Formats: sequence, structure tokens, C-alpha cells
Amino acid sequence: MSTIFAKIIAGEIPSDMVFQDDQVTAFRDISPQAPTHILIVPNREIPTANDVSAADEQLLGHMFVVARQLAAEEEIDANGYRLIINCNEHGGQEVYHLHLHLLGGRPLGPMLTRRT
Ligand code: AMP
Repeated sequence: MSTIFAKIIAGEIPSDMVFQDDQVTAFRDISPQAPTHILIVPNREIPTANDVSAADEQLLGHMFVVARQLAAEEEIDANGYRLIINCNEHGGQEVYHLHLHLLGGRPLGPMLTRRT
């Protein structure tokens, strides 16, 4: 089933898009958790990290290259940033269309807060 990201990719609903080509679309997160918070999304609908296959290897590598380019454009590359993919319930995934979060622009602290 399609998510809101499919409509953003198709331009059917507005977004703050920062990059698009034939493979991926990148736009600013509507609820940013850091000064830079961009989502890099494959145009093809892959629901979760569990659904990637060997056929997606080039696409997944391209997402990484686009993330690196956007980090440079945002001038967060030298200080550093974080790339995150959430999967399913325990991973905290909210939108079931695979996406890479690019977060930076401030110290992001520890990766996880330990909870027992
Ligand atoms: P995740 O929890 O990894 O599935 O992340 C989903 C992200 O999508 C969240 O950070 C949301 O703030 C973001 N989001 C949801 N709807 C929109 C939207 N219409 N435009 C931009 N970002 C969105």
C-alpha cells in the first residue's frame, strides 16, 4: 500500500524537496530533529529494510552517495552527521516506504538512550 512519500515523490503533495533524480527523492523532514533533517527516499516503493534484495544494491548505494552530496551542500560534512534507517515497530518506523534520515547541524549525542 502506498504511503504519503509516494505522493511527495510524484509531486502530488507539497514538500521541501532538495534533490530528485530517476532513482531517489530527498526532502526535508516535516518535523526536524536537528538543524538539518533530510529524508532520502527511493522512488521505487520498498516498504522496509526487510524488503531489500540483491537487486536493490545499486539503488541503496546511490542513496548513500546522495546523502553524502547533501551533507556537503548543507555544510555538515566536516563536523559530521548521522544516517539512520528505522525498520518496523522496534526500530520506530512510522512511514512504511524505506528512507534514509540525514541528521546534522549540531552535536547529536549518544546514538541511543539506554532503557531497560
Ligand atoms: P520513520 O520513523 O523512520 O518512519 O520516519 C518517518 C519520518 O517522516 C518522520 O521523521 C516524520 O517526521 C517524517 N514525515 C512524515 N510525513 C512527512 C511529510 N509529509 N513530509 C516530510 N516528512 C514527513
